[in-house]
Amino acid sequence: MAETALNAKQKSMAAVASYAARGNQDGLKQALIDGLDAGVTVNEFKEILVQVYAYCGFPRSLNALNTLMRLEEERGNKDEQGKLPGAKPAGNSLDYGTENQTKLVGQPVQGKIYEFAQAIDEFLKAHLFGDIFARDNIDWQTRELATIAMLASLDNVTAQLNSHINVGKHNGLTDAQVAEILEIADKTGAETVLFGLGEENTAYAKHFIGKSYLQPLTKEGINASNVTFEPKARNNWHIHRKTGQTLFVVSGRGWYQEWGKPTQELKAGDVVNIPEGIKHWHGAAKNSWFTHVAVTVPHNDATTEWLEAVTNEEYDKLP
Ligand code: MN
Repeated sequence: MAETALNAKQKSMAAVASYAARGNQDGLKQALIDGLDAGVTVNEFKEILVQVYAYCGFPRSLNALNTLMRLEEERGNKDEQGKLPGAKPAGNSLDYGTENQTKLVGQPVQGKIYEFAQAIDEFLKAHLFGDIFARDNIDWQTRELATIAMLASLDNVTAQLNSHINVGKHNGLTDAQVAEILEIADKTGAETVLFGLGEENTAYAKHFIGKSYLQPLTKEGINASNVTFEPKARNNWHIHRKTGQTLFVVSGRGWYQEWGKPTQELKAGDVVNIPEGIKHWHGAAKNSWFTHVAVTVPHNDATTEWLEAVTNEEYDKLP
C-alpha cells in the first residue's frame, strides 16, 4: 500500500491486538515495542489486551498482558503510563451497556440468538458494552480497530468480523483504514505459521517478484523448506531438472500454474506434485500472504532452471 491510512500508533495497536489474538508472544513483543516507541501509552495497550479477553478468552488476554508486563520490566518501567479510565457511569452496567451498544452499532441490536440464549445477550450488553466499553481511556474507534484486528486473526468468525467492520466504519474508520487493519492481521498470520517465517529469501530474490521468506526445515533424506510469499509475490517460471518438487500448502491463498495450463488456486491443505522437467511458477494471491512447504528428493545432478518472470499482465488477471 503506497499511502498508509493508519498512523504509526494505530498500526501498532492493530498488530498488538492481532498477535495477542493469535497467541504469538514474540510478534506481540515487537509490536508493543514499535507502539511504545511511537507514543502509545502503557495503559492504552493494557486496555486493548484486557479487551482481548472478550473476543479470544482469558488465556490469550493473560498471556499477552504478561508479555507487556515483562517488556515493561525490561524497559525499566520508564514508558509513559498514560490515563486510567474515569469513574464508572452511574446506574447499572446492563442499562448503560445497552445504550452503548445501540450508539456503537447505530441501532438497537436484535437477533433470534439473543432470545434463544438470553444470558449471552445480557453478558454482551452488561459486561462487554457496559463494563469494558465504559472504560474511557481509549475511544470506541480504537476499540473497534482492535476488535477488527482480533476477529480477522481468528478462524471462522466471518459474520462477527463483517459486523464489526460495519461498526468500525460507523465509528469513523475509513475503508482504507479497515483494509490496512485486515492487511496487518493477514501479515501476523503469515508470521505465526507452523514452521515459522524464517529469513528474507535474498539469495533467490533475483528469481522472484516481491518478497519471500525461507525457513529451511531438513536436508536429511529429503530437502524441505518452508516458503512464505508476501501478497503479489511469486517466483519466475522455472523447471526442476532431474527431480520434481512437492508443495504442501500451509496457509493463505496462492497460485500454481504449469506452462500452457490454467492457473490453480491453492489454499491450506492442498498438495501439488510437480514432475521434473515441467515449466511452472508458484506464489501468493494479490491480497493474501501465502505459505507452502516445498519438498524435493535429493539427486546429485538436480538443478533449477530459472526462466522469465510471470508478467503483471498475466498475474493481474488473477482474482
Ligand atoms: Mn517450483
